[in-house]
Amino acid sequence: MSTTPNPPSPNPRQAKGFLVTVALPSTLPASRLRRHDVFALPENSGERLRIESLAPHPQLPTRLVITPVDAPMPITLHVDEPVQPISMHRSVEVTCQLCGASTTTEIDLVAHGEPKTWVCNRH
Ligand SMILES: [Zn+2]
Repeated sequence: MSTTPNPPSPNPRQAKGFLVTVALPSTLPASRLRRHDVFALPENSGERLRIESLAPHPQLPTRLVITPVDAPMPITLHVDEPVQPISMHRSVEVTCQLCGASTTTEIDLVAHGEPKTWVCNRH
């Protein structure tokens, strides 16, 4: 696998301005997951798991209890365990690099990448 970081790429889909994003790595620690995200376990990458609920383990602070939709039972994952993200919708606040104005934008971190630089549409 290549060790060079993913280059920033423009994301012209944003209507309110210009967002530069960085592609997510192919795996992320389980601690990055949130409710409604879709992910796969690396050892079973064909199975997509949509998170119905997610909570810290009641006894083990380094573990998460994740209940996927339609799953017979919850999964317990270590917070550092690598998972393959498939869909991670986030509402993120971004600040314009030129005028400092901030706005909130909705993106899928997997499809669009993580926000890096924002320029609003006044420039
Ligand atoms: Zn601006």
